[in-house]
Amino acid sequence: MNKMMTYLKEPVVIENEKVYLNVSIGIAVFQEDSADLEKLIEYGNIAKNYALQTGDNTYVFYEKEIRVNYLNNLKLETELRSALEKNELSLAYQPQVQVETRAIIASEALLRWNNENLGPVSPEQFIPVAERTDLIIPIGNWVLEEAIKQNKKWYDITNKKIVVAVNLSPIQFKRSDLPQIIKELLEKYQMPAELLEIEITEGILVENMEGTSLQLEKIKALGVKVAIDDFGTGYSSLKYLQNFNFDKLKIDREFIKDYPQHDTGSIAKTILNLAAQMDINVIAEGVETQEQFLFLKENHCQQIQGYYFHKPLSAKDFEMLLTEKITDRVD
Ligand code: C2E
Ligand code: MG
Ligand code: MG
Repeated sequence: MNKMMTYLKEPVVIENEKVYLNVSIGIAVFQEDSADLEKLIEYGNIAKNYALQTGDNTYVFYEKEIRVNYLNNLKLETELRSALEKNELSLAYQPQVQVETRAIIASEALLRWNNENLGPVSPEQFIPVAERTDLIIPIGNWVLEEAIKQNKKWYDITNKKIVVAVNLSPIQFKRSDLPQIIKELLEKYQMPAELLEIEITEGILVENMEGTSLQLEKIKALGVKVAIDDFGTGYSSLKYLQNFNFDKLKIDREFIKDYPQHDTGSIAKTILNLAAQMDINVIAEGVETQEQFLFLKENHCQQIQGYYFHKPLSAKDFEMLLTEKITDRVD
């Protein structure tokens, strides 16, 4: 099967242009899966469609669970198509705290979807579906607009410069009109550009250096900040850290969550040292305990985001936190 895939992935030359094919193969076995030809074809098709759903260039053997997963994914996709119209999306805001002062200096906008039939669906489940179907473009634009509009409102109320960070999918990031969209939204809501931060992942940087740097330059030229999300989980090329002028590195929760029981924190420390050398700000994600907080503080991590301080909050609760000064931790 792998040989077949390799062969099919070879480019085909059409009028001097190389054309690449994506392959999705579904396999159903006669007698094992079904002794009935019609069913066999149906199962083969389900396996193929499931392969298509899970990503490019893969093959899948039919199994009962596959049918269930395929139908679930299909349901998710159908419901997601109308999520925007039905007003089912919202943003939660998770505070980012300055270690030294314990002040809230920013929030990360996190997408939430509450569907009438499926209930709450986690972004880890529906973002990949949105990306595969390109629904991520209208949804991502909605997130940008909502976060900018909301943050401007908070700026007006509090007069404090609190940044809002928005996650961008690689698919959104690659679109040439992204800088223009951001620019127009900032103008529309009169939101200072320095109060917007975009979060991109390492994958984007490695994939297409040249296109990426141009896109990043255009976005940075607006005055918008750029953070690298989930740092350490991807390729972590040091070259791009040197090449691009990033405002912030986010250490992934992966390197925090098992400290101190099952992790000495050596990777987190290494990232902190590296960032200090390069003069980049660091925020640690997923900080849940006091031990983790103190460890990061000792190692000069400037900012923290995690349940230890705050979970993601509704817009209303975040606003209360900003305006009422709910008592902070004192330890
Ligand atoms: P992320 O950008 O790395 O966001 C951090 C995730 O960690 C969030 O999960 C947050 O709720 C969770 N988290 C924060 N602190 C803690 C903690 O102390 N402990 C634990 N266990 N978890 C913590 P969430 O909201 O489920 O989002 C998951 C991922 O979905 C995000 O990871 C991001 O990659 C993606 N995502 C969320 N919103 C958007 C969006 O608007 N657009 C795009 N493209 N992706 C989004
Ligand atoms: Mg993020
Ligand atoms: Mg992250």
